[in-house]
Amino acid sequence: MERLTPERRSSLMSRIKGKDTKPEIVVRSLVHCLGHRFRLHRRTLPGTPDLVFPGHKKVIFVHGCFWHMHTCLRGTSTPVNNAAFWRAKRTGNVVRDAKSLAALRKDGWKVLIVWECETRNAIKLTTRITKFLSN
Ligand SMILES: [Zn+2]
Repeated sequence: MERLTPERRSSLMSRIKGKDTKPEIVVRSLVHCLGHRFRLHRRTLPGTPDLVFPGHKKVIFVHGCFWHMHTCLRGTSTPVNNAAFWRAKRTGNVVRDAKSLAALRKDGWKVLIVWECETRNAIKLTTRITKFLSN
């Protein structure tokens, strides 16, 4: 298992703490710091995974909590206006996600889903991703 040097960890932490850092960028930076190579947004794969590790047959999706209806507060709250519209749109995403996941797994891909809210905890995120990529 790879370990982060103190320098790398602190640069990682500072990047992650940035308020307007997009979750996907956080994950990409982390994976890069861990020394893994990946490809982005393979449209040929179901659901166009955010990070693809072709040699390992692994993919990572970084999901926004609201759009993909995570079980956290942001994912379970419903906008007051146009509630039906948002519900339909988000439910559509969830259905598509499930289909993509099933198709990828059927094809032998290992899939990790990282939620937006999880990208705010650098330590937990590092542990999850390291574990996923190491076996
Ligand atoms: Zn969440």
